[in-house]
Amino acid sequence: MAEGTTFKRCSCTGADSKALGQKCPKLRRPGGGWSHRHGVWNYQIELPSTVEGRRRGPLRRSGFASQEAAEAELGQVRELLALADPGETALRSQIADLIKRTLAETRVLPNVDVVRRKVRTRQDLTQQVTVAQWLEEFLKRKRKIEETTRRSYEGHIRLYLCVNPLKAWRRSYATSALNRADDACLFAVI
Ligand SMILES: [Zn+2]
Repeated sequence: MAEGTTFKRCSCTGADSKALGQKCPKLRRPGGGWSHRHGVWNYQIELPSTVEGRRRGPLRRSGFASQEAAEAELGQVRELLALADPGETALRSQIADLIKRTLAETRVLPNVDVVRRKVRTRQDLTQQVTVAQWLEEFLKRKRKIEETTRRSYEGHIRLYLCVNPLKAWRRSYATSALNRADDACLFAVI
């Protein structure tokens, strides 16, 4: 199975105005190691084929401040993919779909424990992330917020608890109710 890699790239362009990407000489120090100052960290990993057997491009994520941060997320992708045995091609492909869709909708990876539970109990992995699920995840990750803020968020979650896919919800509610409640912090991560 593909292990993936982490690497640095930058936004410099060459004489032909094309992006240099990983080829920029400033990315490497004279000794060959990565420059500490230039470029941002990325990772890349091959994903299993689609259910139809079509190959898909690798998953690439950019903008990590450190190699450790890129490695950590890459590790989470590996963990997610490892929830299916190599022979379980349909399940492997479903997990890859879930990873891509969840990243597109929420910008974060699916939670490994949640997906593991779904795989064990043979639940459908193809359902869209709902607002309620996403907000619950959000609150779990926000361990340090004040209790009053947490209660306020939980109130919003109950108030707007709906089964709309997150993408649609963002369009309809993002500028209204929760925004008026001055929950800029919540919106910063949506
Ligand atoms: Zn550069």
